[in-house]
Amino acid sequence: MTVLHVKYLLVGGGAASIAAAKAIRSLDVEGSMLVVGREVHRPYLRPELSRRYLRRESTREQLYLDDPDWFNRHHVALKTGRNVSRIDPPRSAATLDSGEEVSYDFLLIATGATAAGLAIPGAQLPNLFSLRTIDDADLLRNAVETAIHEGRPHGELSELPRARGRVAVIGAGLLGVEVSASLRRMGMAVDLISGSEHPWAKQAGEATGRFVAKLLAKHGVTLHAGRHPLRLEGDSRVQRVVLDDAAKTTLDCDFAVACVGAVATKDLLRGTTIGAGKSILVDSTGRTSVPNIFAAGDCCAILDPRFGKHRWLEHWDGAQATATLAGRNMAGANETFTALPGFETEIFGVKARGWGESRLVDRRLIRGSTAADTGFAEIGIAKDGRVAQVLVVGDLDETAALRQLVWDRVNVSGREDSLRDPAVALS
Ligand SMILES: Cc1cc2nc3c(=O)[nH]c(=O)nc-3n(C[C@H](O)[C@H](O)[C@H](O)COP(=O)(O)OP(=O)(O)OC[C@H]3O[C@@H](n4cnc5c(N)ncnc54)[C@H](O)[C@@H]3O)c2cc1C
Repeated sequence: MTVLHVKYLLVGGGAASIAAAKAIRSLDVEGSMLVVGREVHRPYLRPELSRRYLRRESTREQLYLDDPDWFNRHHVALKTGRNVSRIDPPRSAATLDSGEEVSYDFLLIATGATAAGLAIPGAQLPNLFSLRTIDDADLLRNAVETAIHEGRPHGELSELPRARGRVAVIGAGLLGVEVSASLRRMGMAVDLISGSEHPWAKQAGEATGRFVAKLLAKHGVTLHAGRHPLRLEGDSRVQRVVLDDAAKTTLDCDFAVACVGAVATKDLLRGTTIGAGKSILVDSTGRTSVPNIFAAGDCCAILDPRFGKHRWLEHWDGAQATATLAGRNMAGANETFTALPGFETEIFGVKARGWGESRLVDRRLIRGSTAADTGFAEIGIAKDGRVAQVLVVGDLDETAALRQLVWDRVNVSGREDSLRDPAVALS
């Protein structure tokens, strides 16, 4: 068995690993470093998969985060297409699927997440897609291509007389809405199934959700709100989605896409004592319960002092922020988490950004109006009167001040009415 020793072993070839590698190199330019990634691709911009890459407006080359030379120039060894199959914390060693053993001084687990599956009859059919990797996106792009040429006609929905291609998107969170918008922009007829009464139920309140529903309707996406798929039917492929309403509404489709959330990848913890719940738990320095093992990105929940709880951030900015912290601390810094990472999404050209912790929100108010052309903000307030979350839809001049409300966890008790009025300055 080959045994290699490195100072830093980074497991996972995604955004978090690369941010951590850069953070380590900002403090330690020569400590030996190995990044091992399961995917054959070098690290890439995952959020683009549901946007321009899916719509064939950008190439695979444009997705990559760094040119291969970056790794050489910074003396970072990158092994792609390799899985770390187990870790042995007492020996500070990891085993790769090639049989190689790598011992380390510091280990970063940045194994990300996988797409959650659907547990309904028919979910095993081959043309139910999910979207997490470039390979998933390529399969989906091919399915779209076939459907718009040979799929079900839907001329009534389009100015194009012979438009073809029908898809059912299951799940109306950020990803389901983005995928629906992209597929619609590519000319498909889209049925979007939302288990909640409005889209973005995890991130936003009813008023913002209704705004999103209207925007989708305006662009021809058909929303089925408050509905779940009962089963997927078809002759060895998905041809229909049956809903759980009284009429058992049936949606014909050429294929379906499940966008029903993500599951943190923490299989490496098997047989170890590293603390975890649904994801790997790290303290406010990015460290797991084993002192020389850190975790960052979608695989972990970080103890965030601003909110006094472990938070699973599950967004690009969160991966950057947790990984930068972990990387710096692996390289000798002693920093705690002060960042306020947010998320960004886009539907039919309308941008939305959010910061904060939706799980702490007790009540929400709209600043401005959801009918305003310029955009609006949704402010989520915790039980104790402090701002827990802000969403900004569109481009607002006061975006920075709105974000500051969450940064400072401002107590707005008794001032909620003036907060609704954009004419009243936030200061
Ligand atoms: C389609 C899509 C659209 C998105 N859009 C947005 C968006 O608009 N805005 C936003 O903020 N966020 C978005 N996100 C979320 C964002 O991409 C993630 O939060 C971010 O990529 C997480 O980075 P990560 O490095 O933690 O995990 P990942 O990017 O998942 O990378 C982890 C990598 O580790 C590999 N791995 C796992 N286990 C092992 C192992 N044992 N050995 C070796 N390698 C392993 C995985 O194969 C994977 O390549 C989107 C995600 C998806 C899938």
